[in-house]
Order: sequence, then C-alpha cells, then structure tokens
Amino acid sequence: MTTTSFDAIIIGAGVIGSGVAFELTRRGLRTLSIDKLPAAGYGSTSSSSAIIRYTYSTASGVAMSYEGYHYWKDWPSYIGDIGDQTYAEFIEKPMLLPKTPGGHYLKVLPHFEALGVPYEDVPLDEALNRWPYLDLRIFGPPASLDDTNNTFWGEPEAVHDGVIVSPNAGYISDPQLSALNLATAAIRDGAEFRYNTTVTSINRADGRVSGVTVEGPNGGETIAAPVVVNVGGPHARVLNEMAGVLDSMSRSSRALRREVYIYPAPSGVDYDTNGIMIGDTDTGVYFRSERGNNVLVGNAEPECDELEWVDDPDTYNEVLSEDGFLLHGMRTSRRITDLPIPQRKSGLVSMYDATPDWLPIYDRTDLDGFYVAIGTSGNQFKNAPIAGHAMAELITAVEAGHDHDNDPVIVEGKHTGFPIDLATFTRNRVVPDDTHMNVFG
Ligand SMILES: Cc1cc2nc3c(=O)[nH]c(=O)nc-3n(C[C@H](O)[C@H](O)[C@H](O)COP(=O)(O)OP(=O)(O)OC[C@H]3O[C@@H](n4cnc5c(N)ncnc54)[C@H](O)[C@@H]3O)c2cc1C
Repeated sequence: MTTTSFDAIIIGAGVIGSGVAFELTRRGLRTLSIDKLPAAGYGSTSSSSAIIRYTYSTASGVAMSYEGYHYWKDWPSYIGDIGDQTYAEFIEKPMLLPKTPGGHYLKVLPHFEALGVPYEDVPLDEALNRWPYLDLRIFGPPASLDDTNNTFWGEPEAVHDGVIVSPNAGYISDPQLSALNLATAAIRDGAEFRYNTTVTSINRADGRVSGVTVEGPNGGETIAAPVVVNVGGPHARVLNEMAGVLDSMSRSSRALRREVYIYPAPSGVDYDTNGIMIGDTDTGVYFRSERGNNVLVGNAEPECDELEWVDDPDTYNEVLSEDGFLLHGMRTSRRITDLPIPQRKSGLVSMYDATPDWLPIYDRTDLDGFYVAIGTSGNQFKNAPIAGHAMAELITAVEAGHDHDNDPVIVEGKHTGFPIDLATFTRNRVVPDDTHMNVFG
C-alpha cells in the first residue's frame, strides 16, 4: 500500500536524483522520488555526453570525479542485482587536454599531482604518432564564423608542445540507462518512484520543510516528509523559488540551452577504436567518440559565444540550429584534420542547469530540511554516484545536528580515500573570479 509520509522526498529522477535516492535508501531511509516525466533519466540526463573525466580546476572537483570513476568502472557491483535490466556500459577512452599556453591543464595538474590521479604528459611528436588525425597547432582564441579579423581561421605557426592524457577516462554509452539502473536498485532496496507526477508546491510547517504537494495521474495529493531534496536539473531554480529559498542563496543556477552535434569521422580514421576525448579551450569545443565511427561535439563556452539562458525550462527552442552545426564542425575540423561536415545536421538540443562558476551546488538551504543537488553545469553526470553518497552523508549529518554552514562536511571517497570538501559546493561560496569558468568546471 502506498503511504503518504516518507523520511525523504527527492524531486527529480535524473541520474543525480536517482543516485541520491539509492544512497539514502541504502542508509535505511524510506524515500519517495517524484518526476513529472515517464521514467528515470528522461530529463537532461538523457541528452548527456556522459564523459567521465577528472580534469577539474578545484581539488574537490578532481577528488570527486576520480572517486566517481571507481563506481563506473565496476558499475554492476555498485548497482547489484537488477534482474533482467542491462547495466550501463563504461567505454574507456583517453581524455586529452592540450597544453595550451595559460590553458585549463595548468589548473588541473597541481590537483592531479597532489592527489596522485594518474596522467601522462605526452610530447607533441608522440601525440601525433598515436593520434595521426589530430592537428595540434595553436588556433585560439576561438572565433565566430563571421569574425574574419580573427586568426582562428588562418594558418597558425605555433604548435602545442604536447597534451596531458588521462588514460583511464571514458564515457557511458547510455546515460538514461544509468539513471534507470540507479532507480531500479533503489526500488529493490525499498525506495518508491512516482512518474508522470509534478511537484506543484513545497510545503512548510513550524519553520521547516514539511513535504510537497503533487499533481499526478490520480489528481492532487499532499505528501509529508521532514526532508525534501531538490534535484530538478534545469527546473531547479523554479523549485527553489517554489520553496522560497532562491533569495537566500548567493550562488544559484539557471537553465542554459545547449546543443550537441554528431559528425562522421574522417575517411580512413577508425575513431571507434582509436578515438580520443578532448577538452579544448583553444578551439572552443569538447569532443569524444560516438559509436558508429562518429565524433560527438559540444560547446566549451568560449568568450565569443553568447550563452542562451532559458527563463522558462518548459518552453525552449528544441530545434538544432544549422549555424551551430556548421560552426562546431568547422571548429572541430581545426583539431581533427579532414573532419567531414555533412549537409544534413545531426545532434540534439537540451539544457544545463548552470551556475556562474560552473560548479554544482550540493548543500542544505536556509529552509531546514530542504536540500539541493543542483547547478550541475554540464559536468556532473560522472559524479552522480559519488554525489548521491555525498548528499546522503550531508543530509544525515545535518539532520543529526551538524552545522554544515559553519563547519562544512568533508566526505571521504570510499574507493580512493580522497577527502571531498563540500565547502567547495555550498550555496554561499565565495569564488574570487568566475569569468574564466566554463563547462570543464
Ligand atoms: C548536453 C549535455 C551534455 C552533458 N555532458 C556531460 C558530460 O559529458 N559529462 C558530465 O559529467 N556531465 C555532462 N552533462 C551534465 C549531466 O548530464 C547532468 O549534470 C546530469 O544529467 C543532471 O542530472 P540531474 O538528475 O540533476 O537532472 P535531470 O536529469 O535534468 O533530472 C531532473 C528531473 O527533475 C524532474 N523535475 C523537474 N521539476 C519537477 C517537478 N516540479 N516535479 C517533478 N519532477 C520535476 C525532471 O522531469 C527531470 O527528470 C551534460 C548535460 C547536458 C545537458
């Protein structure tokens, strides 16, 4: 029989929401996950490029992502028995960071060194030998197609003197399936998931959250819980407004429209076998291999590109743009020699829930009992299992009386033993300079 009172309600059954549900359930809480879509992972998770890399600019970002890797590489044993359902597959691919002067790799390497995250420093000649289809000249800063004054479209002489390689990076073949795996494991362990059900109000009583009101297939219902977690993805801001906490957060998130494009690999290149993934501020794109000998390309938010913020995440332009397909193909063809750009565009449109510093917010709020795992800024898919663990540790600690605002919780990675300082991800963090941040976090 369905109860109308739970220990915790999780709004959103994306990969992170399902991860939070699984981890809270494993700690013995009776959880209810609510999603307005028909199944787990049908929101922005289903559009994720799902790259698993460790190249973050903060110590906690690197620690968290490398801890996350250990979950993905042994996914079936983390998830456990889920009957006939297949497990999401981790496809290993090397992740490259070009050594662009002043580039992102300079922020990353000190953390790799301090934590002992494996990497190779590959000189130019060796890189071109291993991946002969790459052009490692320095083209940047990236430019729009009509910027004829910019040297980006010219023939540069400077060349990168090498690349930093994470040999054990990769991507998840089916991001939606990974959310479904987490939800199925949570349900097996006692969690309840309700789909096609929309949270219409976040309720308060006695100065703290008291539950939610929903509109579902059987009409409206009020459900009680002392803990409610906002994992609403691009709708997170709307949910924070609903809870009345938006104004009390100095860091918040907004929905950002994003496009991802698919191009065939150049003729004669077996990109399925010898493909790489790259985070490339020099060309303003990231890319990875995509099954079928394709290259999947996303935008790396270079300064010349305008960001398309979305005020109402229920109505945004879902049509892939011709211009974006051409521009990103052209930019990628700077790095991958002879990349074909077909007449017929291919790709998808989705949204990130982005913060100004491109770091997520994993935190409590000023409303006691109301937590957020939001602002995942196009880079937190990989962290879903460890974010679930971190949120469960945070919620357990705060509900037991811990003052996270003044003494931030530090979570230990179960696999790596790395300390993950949740102060990095608080709603009121102070970041000295947001201006150079992007999807790479
Ligand atoms: C194009 C793209 C590429 C990306 N690439 C990468 C990558 O390469 N690597 C990486 O690590 N990360 C990447 N990400 C980021 C990653 O995919 C996201 O961080 C992650 O999927 C977010 O999961 P989530 O559970 O927080 O949100 P979502 O999957 O968006 O789930 C939120 C859910 O909340 C539900 N919801 C919202 N409001 C309500 C309501 N009122 N009532 C009920 N339900 C509600 C929605 O229906 C939705 O299902 C990418 C994201 C995008 C969009």
